[in-house]
Amino acid sequence: MKLVAWLDELSNDDVNIAGGKGASLGEMWNAGLPVPPAFVVTAEAYRYFIRETKLDEKIREILRGIDVNNSEDLMDRSKKVRDLITNAKMPKDLELSIIESYNKLCEISGGEETFVAVRSSATAEDLPDASFAGQQDTYLNIKGADEVVNAVQRCFASLFTPRAVFYREQKGFDHFQVALAAVVQKMVNAEKAGVLFTVNPINQNYDEMVIEGAWGLGEGVVSGTVSPDTYIIDKTDLSVKDIYIARKETMFVKDENGETREIPTPEDLKEKRVLSDEELKKLAEKGILIEKHYNRPMDIEWALESGEVYMLQARPITTLGKEKKKEAKKIGEEIEAKILLKGIGASPGVVSGKVKILYDIEEIDKIKEGDILVTKMTTPDMVPAMKKASAIVTDDGGLTCHAAIISRELGTPCVVGTQKATTVLKDNMVITVDGEKGIVYEGEIKKKEEAAPAQVVYAGAPIITATEIKVNVSMPEVAERAAATGADGVGLLRAEHMILGTGVHPIKVLEEKGEEALVDVFAEGIRKVADAFYPRPITYRTLDAPTDEFRGLEGGDDEPEEHNPMMGWRGIRRGLDQPEILKCELLAIKKLREEGYKNINIMIPLVTSPDEVREVKKLAYEIGLNLGKDVEFGIMVETPAAALIIEDFIKEGINFVSLGTNDLTQYTIAIDRNNEFVAKYYRENHPAVLKLIESVIKTCKKHGIKTSICGQAGSRPAIVEKLVEWGITSISANIDAIDTIRKTVARTEQRVILDAIRDKKDMGNF
Ligand code: PEP
Ligand code: MG
Repeated sequence: MKLVAWLDELSNDDVNIAGGKGASLGEMWNAGLPVPPAFVVTAEAYRYFIRETKLDEKIREILRGIDVNNSEDLMDRSKKVRDLITNAKMPKDLELSIIESYNKLCEISGGEETFVAVRSSATAEDLPDASFAGQQDTYLNIKGADEVVNAVQRCFASLFTPRAVFYREQKGFDHFQVALAAVVQKMVNAEKAGVLFTVNPINQNYDEMVIEGAWGLGEGVVSGTVSPDTYIIDKTDLSVKDIYIARKETMFVKDENGETREIPTPEDLKEKRVLSDEELKKLAEKGILIEKHYNRPMDIEWALESGEVYMLQARPITTLGKEKKKEAKKIGEEIEAKILLKGIGASPGVVSGKVKILYDIEEIDKIKEGDILVTKMTTPDMVPAMKKASAIVTDDGGLTCHAAIISRELGTPCVVGTQKATTVLKDNMVITVDGEKGIVYEGEIKKKEEAAPAQVVYAGAPIITATEIKVNVSMPEVAERAAATGADGVGLLRAEHMILGTGVHPIKVLEEKGEEALVDVFAEGIRKVADAFYPRPITYRTLDAPTDEFRGLEGGDDEPEEHNPMMGWRGIRRGLDQPEILKCELLAIKKLREEGYKNINIMIPLVTSPDEVREVKKLAYEIGLNLGKDVEFGIMVETPAAALIIEDFIKEGINFVSLGTNDLTQYTIAIDRNNEFVAKYYRENHPAVLKLIESVIKTCKKHGIKTSICGQAGSRPAIVEKLVEWGITSISANIDAIDTIRKTVARTEQRVILDAIRDKKDMGNF
């Protein structure tokens, strides 16, 4: 029984021993190509492991009757199998063989403990009729014998990722007909890496090569996480025919602990061309050699370290010459159509259809036969929808990403790496996708004479987010429109307009008509909003009356003249100075509660001290309203003071905090928000403002206090992304920003979850 084989012992005929990857590396090694040294833990070793640990029956039992189109069932059973394999005890002799081989690899590589990549190499992986690419795990930057043993075991487990199980069930492979070898290979610390296709897989032009390249390790390109540059090479003279420079937001590197990390690409490299003409030539030459050696079109993973080219993997291109399922229409030169998007043509064919944007896998049922699936990047659990789609368009990805591979296999036109398909396109829009040119046109393209105007229908997609999306309401009259956004509630109901709308100063109302009249002014405004949203919660903010605005009211002559009303007599300090008005607001809430409105919360503006919280609670208690008990009670964080001593407020007893960034910004960076002379300096994303916000959100999270934002910054996607990352529990945005913010939140939540999953790696390559 051969548990371990070295590359010089392997050739293409050894797929059953070393899997597709291992056999191909052996072949390349023996052909004198620049392959980093490696040994392979054989497929036989895997079978021996399964046999000795007696796992086969248990695995069959778990997978019996699986419904692979039910993602939950698929993920659940796949995880059970992988846990079983990862936690099993490796047979001693196998463990020893791996350790000895690793030690030998270290010796060959210079004596020191060396970093290795441990790559899965399934025996059925590179069958010409099945693109199994990337379905099993690779562990990079592994160092130390025990770690290598562990990584091999994790590779074994990765034969059962949801994606792999899905493929095998779909293709009718028995789960145990496929075995897994693990390649343990000296790690190349790539400065640049990518993929090379010796034939253009998009237009199937045998006179062209396609090279994809990105900064850092090749992991990002292969997994589709990084959109790489794409270079088209003329094979006849190795000249560069075409270049597509992608914006490379992130890159994969080895960090100081040897961990593979996805980091933001340094600004100066983001849009910089990765490969020089000279490097392209070097790569293309190796591509020609490999294609000649194998005598067929090949797909090669490469890396560049200190100017040296390394070949990490080569396999046949599986999708050339395949019969197309969908009839490709030809767009003649005579067609005039508006170009909506340009990306990388990843699977040829031209089709028209209705856009359906998938922000979340939960929306998968949206996709009906013939729709065009638009998403940031497809995932394996989207495959059932991808099958129904007539075309696929993604924001991210390159020629080897999931969307590209699957759509080529399905024969479905596909454009990847558009960067903004999910924002430019809208649900139900009719578009035409050219999967060869990588272009998305507006409307259904017909011949010029019969060209019909594009039918564009905007429809809100049902997006569910864990972070609540609420809406700001300043005028009760817009309550219905605000409620129609589908927001989860009102995060800020301003009181000022309820008063300003009457044209009479509240003190005058009190003096002339009495307490009940003023209570009714407030109650009427709040009721309108509470009704429109019932039973969704609304958050009433007590009056934040600036003297300059209230002076204009009938009876407002006594409002003091202030040099800077923004820093003057306003907010809760004024509220407590005029308790007769605040009392009416509290009475209004109490009255509405007695009418049955249980969906009203209260918050107070511009607090700077916990004493203010105590006093407001006392006043409320005196009129029979228990703040924090009868109604949820919170404060607005609008001053650096409140942000800096947030824990003191929490101790005083609050249910939630709402970030009022309009004021927080002006007080933090000393810019009067109403002063047009300094308006250009007003920045809610000033690092100091963001730092205060981050610390408030994180501190509140620690104490179980809910956080929200109701300032304008909550309607800004770039800031909202950060808030979600920091753990804010709700966002309150302007009516017109709700849709955008909902999408931003959904996408950010998915990214946060995805990052967490990737960090934990407990879902394998899924
Ligand atoms: C804020 O300051 O961010 C806020 C929402 O309150 P206003 O704009 O009413 O001052
Ligand atoms: Mg404010």
